[in-house]
Amino acid sequence: MNAEVLAVGTELLLGQTVDTNSAWLGERLALAGIDCHLQVKVGDNHDRIVAALRAALGRADAVIVCGGLGPTHDDITREAIAEVVGAPLVPDPVVLARIREMFAERGRTMSANNARQAEVPLGARPIPQVRGTAPGLICPVGDKVIYALPGPPHEMREMASREVLPDLVARAGPVSVIASRVLRIWGLAESRVAELLNPRIEVLQGAAGGVTVALLASSTEGIRVRLTVRAHSPSEAGTVLDGEEAAARALLGDSVFGVDDQTMEGAVGAALVAGGLTLGLAESVTGGMVASRLVRVAGASAWLAGSVVAYSAEVKRSVLGVPEGPVVSAPAALAMAWGAREVLGAGIGVGVTGVAGPASEEGVPVGTVFCGLVGPHSATESVRLSLGGDRDQIRQAATMSVLDLLRRRLTHPPDRP
Ligand code: AMP
Ligand code: MG
Repeated sequence: MNAEVLAVGTELLLGQTVDTNSAWLGERLALAGIDCHLQVKVGDNHDRIVAALRAALGRADAVIVCGGLGPTHDDITREAIAEVVGAPLVPDPVVLARIREMFAERGRTMSANNARQAEVPLGARPIPQVRGTAPGLICPVGDKVIYALPGPPHEMREMASREVLPDLVARAGPVSVIASRVLRIWGLAESRVAELLNPRIEVLQGAAGGVTVALLASSTEGIRVRLTVRAHSPSEAGTVLDGEEAAARALLGDSVFGVDDQTMEGAVGAALVAGGLTLGLAESVTGGMVASRLVRVAGASAWLAGSVVAYSAEVKRSVLGVPEGPVVSAPAALAMAWGAREVLGAGIGVGVTGVAGPASEEGVPVGTVFCGLVGPHSATESVRLSLGGDRDQIRQAATMSVLDLLRRRLTHPPDRP
């Protein structure tokens, strides 16, 4: 069984709307064990939708079309499907009544265009709508099938989960599941991650277990290692992924800060909670970005005292007590950390200062960032980083690096002096 996705809408071609529907459907099809080898986008043009549908039906057992079921003149997916299956469009009384009812509930009048949404190609089954007004369609074509879903993502997802994916799985009979897990890494270059994982990748390539490893790099969010497995059931897939995650962690060490949607700020928050510690920040080059990421974590008020955005040298000295001398330096970062801990009354103080560019400052090259850390107790540490990229990338990477330094310090505290 293999399915193709056809996203309909001129806005998708023009880049005005990002085609998140295909991405979501791709993930769900993989989880359901249905192969999907092609995703296509087409504009709101009758002939081109018809041609795209015919081509997809020529290759795949099932085609999931999304978009173009709305009430406006450019919503023509229904007509295109009717032409492809060679059936007339007939109004479905149940759907029509439901649309009427929804308009009445909202106290609005129904237009003739909305009545069009109740039309169904003869032989097709409407998928009742619970949100919005556009019903979906399940349209058998010989031994193949076209599914039509509305474009708005929340309506599409609800209808796909409720009717389309179960119908596909039933048609496919017993299938395997594909599942993935993503390990998130900071502090290692992509080439180094590949080198460390290589022994395991070689073993997997020689084995018939169907486990694959992919690396995805981002300058601001680190490296992602995606482990993918094909198995007979979700629980079997979970067991294999647990084993692969443990093997990868053994090779990558504490550079792994989380899995799947676990974030760096979440890891820092959890470590502060575990240590019963509070944090005070002094931010120059990051201008509050470290604090901004940390407050994304629910319950951050329990461990984040606050952040002093000390941008000018003047404020670094008067508010944080940074002594005379260069303000982009290791001693200044450390003095900022002491100042933040003092001023904010926290257990741990962190200071970050650097040059984001475009020009170097006081002879310090662009991308140089100093991070100072004080606590718990009287432990101190300062780190000099050389970050690449433009101003924005340097500031984002500095933010991640500061959080990562903190995470490592909290999970592997130095011996008390
Ligand atoms: P439509 O059903 O074509 O009228 O689409 C209604 C709205 O849903 C569009 O204006 C978009 O905002 C959104 N939409 C349509 N197709 C997609 C898609 N493939 N991915 C994300 N959003 C979409
Ligand atoms: Mg549209």
